[in-house]
Amino acid sequence: MRVQVTVFDLIALMDMMARKVGEIFDDAVETGVTETDFGWPYRAFHMVVKKPCPFLVGDLCAVHHAKPLACRLFPEAFIVREKIEELRRHPEFRFFPCVITPPVLSDDGRDAVMEFDAMWQRERAVSNHFVFGAPAVLVDARRLPKKEEESRNLFSSPALLMKVKERVAPLECGEVRERLLARLLDRSFVARLLRESETPGMIFEVSTEGFFPKPHRPSPALHARYI
Ligand code: SF4
Repeated sequence: MRVQVTVFDLIALMDMMARKVGEIFDDAVETGVTETDFGWPYRAFHMVVKKPCPFLVGDLCAVHHAKPLACRLFPEAFIVREKIEELRRHPEFRFFPCVITPPVLSDDGRDAVMEFDAMWQRERAVSNHFVFGAPAVLVDARRLPKKEEESRNLFSSPALLMKVKERVAPLECGEVRERLLARLLDRSFVARLLRESETPGMIFEVSTEGFFPKPHRPSPALHARYI
């Protein structure tokens, strides 16, 4: 499980750090996979925060006011999604104090977390669409040895990372950022992306050599984007 980064997180970091998006990307972002509600063998392909996180200074987050929304929602989003027990079983998180003793949420607190969680899902869908051309990109990890599947560098091939970096580079331009924010506020557009996220039409097969569209699910447009 990795901390996902959206383009909206990158914009917040650019504002706070007064740095170029390419610099932030090089320092803090890689490509990786996260677990999904689709279960094994499917993993979702995302931009993720590097491990260890370069913003962690001692025990503190150096970008607290602009940290990715996924960080802000941990572990409260897992509480409202009733997935805290999954975290307790997860080898990486089960010893986290906030997982051993999760915060108690009031009704208002729960409502607020649900609202932020819904916002995060909208931002993730629009961000994935901006970067990958689809609101959700799934990989089938069946052919991958377990240890490789868990590897943090699974998809960090230089060529792939360069392509993703090229996609986020236009965020340097204020007009692009404004158009992106307008997309996020476009209810019908976002609703369509969220519907598509629930039934992703593009699935890739992954092995130690790379990842490829599954033969029986050809998707030439996306294939051309990644390979
Ligand atoms: S909270 Fe801060 S230090 Fe922790 S993973 Fe998120 S950005 Fe990194």
